[in-house]
Amino acid sequence: MPLVVNLRHLEARNIRLEGKLPVRELDIDPRDEVIQVGPPLEYDLEVQQLEDGLLAQGRLHLALECQCVRCLKPFQYRLELTDWTCHLPLQGEDRVAVVNDCVDLTPYVREDILLEFPRHPLCNPECRGLPKTSLGRVKNASSAGKTEVGPSAWSELNKLKL
Ligand SMILES: [Zn+2]
Repeated sequence: MPLVVNLRHLEARNIRLEGKLPVRELDIDPRDEVIQVGPPLEYDLEVQQLEDGLLAQGRLHLALECQCVRCLKPFQYRLELTDWTCHLPLQGEDRVAVVNDCVDLTPYVREDILLEFPRHPLCNPECRGLPKTSLGRVKNASSAGKTEVGPSAWSELNKLKL
């Protein structure tokens, strides 16, 4: 269901918009390889008519699949705007596009959702990243075998002396 408000319906009463918007319709591009968008956007909005425009208010929720920038662990990030408010003017220079008496809220939702994307996603604010101790252990193991002399060589020499 697209996020569209019919202005004629709005003249009679406020409009409730509730549902899910597939990500391809939201047309969102995270522009960041550590963030993936999967499940649809969930919305629950109420739209009312003002003298010079529309007012949309409500809740937006989008689940993001993120990768921690420190430890590379995948985790889910809940992007939630519980008190989203958007004023859409119908007059003046900034007036919104009206097509067949309808206003599409999608571009305004997209803009505000993108602003809420995490800049440097962390699985946990305290995340300390990848453990570094294992690297040191590998180095010691590889140099240990060089000077080793097998006990069998000495026992062979002893046999010759006899
Ligand atoms: Zn992490």
